[in-house]
Amino acid sequence: MNQEPKDFIRQRIVRDIDEGVVTGGVVTRFPPEPNGYLHIGHAKSICLNFGVAEEFGGVTYLRFDDTNPLKENEEYTDAIARDVAWLGFSWDDRLTHASDYFEQLYQFAEELIAAGKAYVDSQSNEDIRATRGTLTEPGTESPYRNRSVDENLDLFRRMRAGEFADGEHVLRAKIDMASPNINLRDPVLYRIRHAHHFRTGDAWCIYPMYDYTHCICDALEGVTHSLCTLEFEDHRPLYDWVLDNINVNFHPPQIEFSRLGLEYTVMSKRLLNRLVVEGLVSGWDDPRMPTIAGLRRRGVTPGAIRDFCRRIGVTKQDNLVEMSLLEFCIRQDLEATAPRGMAVLDPLPVTITNYPGDGETLSAPWHPQRPELGERDMPFGPRLFIERDDFAEVPPRKYKRLTPDQPVRLRYAYIIEVEEVIKDDAGEVVELRCRYLPESKSGEDTSGIKTKGVVHWVDAAHAVAAPVRVYDRLFQVPQPGGDTLREDLNPDSLTELQGLVEPAIVASDQQRFQFERIGYFCKDAVDSGVFNRTVTLRDSYRPDGGAAGG
Ligand code: ATP
Ligand code: MG
Repeated sequence: MNQEPKDFIRQRIVRDIDEGVVTGGVVTRFPPEPNGYLHIGHAKSICLNFGVAEEFGGVTYLRFDDTNPLKENEEYTDAIARDVAWLGFSWDDRLTHASDYFEQLYQFAEELIAAGKAYVDSQSNEDIRATRGTLTEPGTESPYRNRSVDENLDLFRRMRAGEFADGEHVLRAKIDMASPNINLRDPVLYRIRHAHHFRTGDAWCIYPMYDYTHCICDALEGVTHSLCTLEFEDHRPLYDWVLDNINVNFHPPQIEFSRLGLEYTVMSKRLLNRLVVEGLVSGWDDPRMPTIAGLRRRGVTPGAIRDFCRRIGVTKQDNLVEMSLLEFCIRQDLEATAPRGMAVLDPLPVTITNYPGDGETLSAPWHPQRPELGERDMPFGPRLFIERDDFAEVPPRKYKRLTPDQPVRLRYAYIIEVEEVIKDDAGEVVELRCRYLPESKSGEDTSGIKTKGVVHWVDAAHAVAAPVRVYDRLFQVPQPGGDTLREDLNPDSLTELQGLVEPAIVASDQQRFQFERIGYFCKDAVDSGVFNRTVTLRDSYRPDGGAAGG
């Protein structure tokens, strides 16, 4: 690297390489528990782990931490692998599971027992919890703490053999019940769970705990930098204790960084799961969810997510990132890449009274600054739709669009002016009868008229009617809570409209578009024919979190 590395983790890695601590290449891992879908917080960890390995010519394991058979399943492992790949990262053949190491983990546990460093405790879970002590008071030693090695080995083997019921015994590390760090007060290493595991089936009825498993897996995989979030800082002494007390010849350093917190959403899998289970969203991939699957369905690209992760950086400071930063990254990315077309979401019929014939085909670029995206055909005819709020009978000051006295240009087409405003009995405008200026065709304009405004439109004979889901933030408060989850929801997070979309957009094999003057939209990957709003346009974004109008 010839560039000064920017965050403390990259600086540490450079130092470890310079000082010869790391000789065989950088090895990292991303260790999700397959008990839910990945969210944007995980993306931060993925970008960091895979990112540093890429930058330093190393490798990354995708390791499923599947130590709790009651909560984990294959739907989740598949979704996680798909999401990591979609974000643009590759683990090659380094896809592992904690369960791949169950036998080794068991052997290390016997080793700890043989060395007098672990014991079988026969207290109930409640008693174990009650005797752990508090931050200010030491814990109390278990009456079973001084069982002999032989008795411990015998009991532990019988635990494995299935002779006991759930909760009858646990294996605990024998460290220090008076340690100021509660994690070192004889933590549980194994518990009995007569449960079917989605990979190991019924081979095991004892399962290792996360803190015991994680460090050993890191060591076995030769992880040179075990990067995790700050809540594990207090667990680091246990991570080190386990590796110091078993016979393994590799000891990765655990390095902690702050979790990503994001405004107007929740990030804990428990709460995301509640949203799904309680039917408050349509699923893990609901476009309002902060999950990778939700963001993908919303129309967000992997590039936008990676850009976001790069901008937030990696520190040890806990922080809450503004949702508007994520929206900014999404917008930036789509602004440059998404083709542009026209759709009308609140249609007002326009009839061009002086238009001869049925129509013609105009042509327009897909992107004004990206000629390489090509052009599309655009049907134009005597019956059109414009957006209802692009006409005002009594215009407010500085109104630049169509009024009875003010012509407007139809984007990539002609100038029109109002001839007659047709209303229904209630006084509502139901149609505009207009004249067009044939000599004002875009690109060949000889009319000499310069309009104040340009509006979008679609041709009534060819526009495709499509449901348009206008998504907004899922929550109406910056920091929704578990206790107020339902009240904190934004009641207007989804508005479904019937839109009229330019036919070339529907026919195109592209997924994401800018609907000119409205926002960025994508074709829904699940419900065909539906468009999802990804994000508003910059100029219609209101920082108060309210829905932006068309
Ligand atoms: P949750 O608390 O939401 O259930 P978790 O941390 O238990 O999340 P894991 O599947 O264990 O979820 O996470 C895998 C990895 O992703 C861990 O290394 C964890 O530190 C990291 N991670 C999870 N959430 C975030 C976040 N918000 N920001 C950064 N990294 C995160
Ligand atoms: Mg976890």
